[in-house]
This record gives sequence, structure tokens and C-alpha cells, in this order.
Amino acid sequence: MSIFVTKPFMPSIAEYQKYVAEIFKRGVLTNQGPCVQELEKKLTDFLGVQNFHYVSNGTIALQVALSALNIRDGEIITTPFSYVATLSSILWEHCAPVFVDIEPDNFTIDVTKIEAAITPKTRAIMPVHVFGYACDVEKIQQIADKHNLKVIYDGAHAFASKFKGNSLLSYGDITTCSFHATKLFHTIEGGACIIRSKEASDKFELQKRFGHDKDDYICLGINAKQSEFHAAMGLANFPYIEKIILERKRVSDLYDLELKSLIGRPKEQPDLEYNYAYYPVVFKDESELLKIFETLNKNDIFPRRYFWPSLNTLPYVSKQSCPVSEDISFRIACLPLYPDLSNENVIKICDIIKNNL
Ligand SMILES: *Cc1c(COP(=O)(O)O)cnc(C)c1O
Repeated sequence: MSIFVTKPFMPSIAEYQKYVAEIFKRGVLTNQGPCVQELEKKLTDFLGVQNFHYVSNGTIALQVALSALNIRDGEIITTPFSYVATLSSILWEHCAPVFVDIEPDNFTIDVTKIEAAITPKTRAIMPVHVFGYACDVEKIQQIADKHNLKVIYDGAHAFASKFKGNSLLSYGDITTCSFHATKLFHTIEGGACIIRSKEASDKFELQKRFGHDKDDYICLGINAKQSEFHAAMGLANFPYIEKIILERKRVSDLYDLELKSLIGRPKEQPDLEYNYAYYPVVFKDESELLKIFETLNKNDIFPRRYFWPSLNTLPYVSKQSCPVSEDISFRIACLPLYPDLSNENVIKICDIIKNNL
């Protein structure tokens, strides 16, 4: 059977059906129904956060986040090393992305380069806790305070990561998350916003359902609501979060044991309680990566080039140079990582890599 970079966690059909049976009985399918409300409550408690909003995906979460903070033009400082949705949300909201290069240790935005990128048009900083590693949240907040900027974290990978004991999703003005099927905790499709201020949280709540409250049309909105069936999948997966993380740790620890001394790996972050969302490795150069991919693919094993290409090089953004991100993008890949990946298969993957280094 093929081994892909990830595989969605599946609860038993019976666990999902239990929720579906209730949905059929009630006949309430969407519009902030009971399953959505229950999931919001459970995730709020699990994460220990306030103003948690469950929405239809992590991309619309970023877009409505910008709108809820009244950012509709101007420049947004962001990272070139992420999934394209970070960038597309900025462009879709008619803002201009300004890329600040990443630091090579954890692939997050290089905070020493942020201030030089600030102009009178800068409105916000949108960093990414890429692979679940923590951005320098303290330094970023200092810079934002000094220059009166908003901070929106793309926390799509950061679910259940903790920084200094707090959820990594609790920093900045807003942090978004994704519950897409490929993510650590999923609701098939889904996303969330965690919002610091009550005012922005109330605006977000309105905007995610068309900007009106019954017959009162208050502000511009969109449809970011999530269905009961998606929330039901979240409720069925919820009891397994700790187990999912433990199994990912098992796989990651075994990769470490076999590969750590031979291959580039992110630096440990002492203040971070990691969620084991991904297992990125950095090869010597692109040709080494391609050679290893070829052999793995022949063995029906499919790691992914996350993230490549560097977003500053995409054809629909204005040219900006980010040498660190461009260099790492050519050499980095994520190895298969999911709860039921067997030790035997992990060893097989490691042996193939070792034989081709
Ligand atoms: C998955 C992902 C998103 C988008 O989330 P969706 O729920 O798929 O819309 C945004 N940013 C990053 C970094 C992601 O990996």
C-alpha cells in the first residue's frame, strides 16, 4: 500500500454515525447548529483560549481575520516560506504582501529583518508558525506595538503546540488555524480564528455569517459558516487528540534516532511543547533530494516538498528576494508522518534515505 506524506485520522464509523443520527433527528444542518457549538466549546476548553470561532476553512479564516481588523488595503509583512494560502488571503483582500526572509533554524520569519520592511503603508504582520514551530512571538509583539501594527498569525500547523505553557494559538491580535483533512486535528474541511479583542471577535462573528443579525444589516460579510456534518467529524476525532500526538511522537522519535545525525533538522525550541505536526528534513542540495525522492517513489513512498517554491518567486507577485527561504525551499521535504505509520515502514524509509545520502 502506498505511503503518502500524511493520511487523515479516521474515527470509527460508529462514532461518526452517532452524531449523524442526531443531526438527522434534529434536521438542523448548518447555521451555528448544536454540533458546531459543542465543538467550539470543546476546542475552547482544550486550547485554553478565548473568542474561538470555528469556520469553514483556514483560508477564509485568514481573509475574514484581515477584514475583522479593518485591514482592506496597504502592505502586510509576511513570510515566503508557507503554504500558498497565507499569500493568497493577503492578495484576495487587496493587500500587498511584503516578504521578509526566514531564519534557517526553524524556518519562521526572521524578526531581525522585520523593521527594515516597515513603511508608512504597513498595516499588519502575518507570520506563520510553520510546521508547528513557534515564531518569536515576543519580539514580533514588541515590533508591532512600537509601529502600531496588527499581528495575525497563520497557525494552520500550530494546533496543540504550546509556547511557555500557553497554546501557540493564543498570541497576536488574531491567530488562525486549519482543520483540513491533512492537518493534525481535522474536521474534513475546517478552520478557526482565535481573537484577542472582544470588539474584533464580535465583528468576526457577524462577518462570518453575511454581516447581519436577523433583519439588521450591520457590515459587509461573507459566508464562512461550517456545517453540522463537518463539526460532527471534529467531535468524533476530538477524543483522540492526545493519542494522535503520541503516535506522531513515536514516528518522529524513530526518525530522529535513525536520521538526526545525518540530515538537516530544525533546532529544538526549549520554550515549545511541540505537536509533531510535520517531520521536515533539509538535504544537502536539490539533487540529493531528487535522488532520494526517486528511490522512495519507486518503493511506493511519497514524501512532499513542503514548501516549494518559495512564495516570493510565484509568477503573480512582484519580485522580492528572500535568499534563505529560496535556498531552503529547494532542499527541504516532509517525510511521511501519521498515527498508523508502522515502525517497520519508518525504518524502511530511513534505510532508503541513508543509502542515498
Ligand atoms: C493548510 C494551510 C492553510 C489553509 O487551510 P485550509 O483549511 O486548507 O484552507 C493556510 N496556511 C497554511 C500554512 C496551511 O498549511
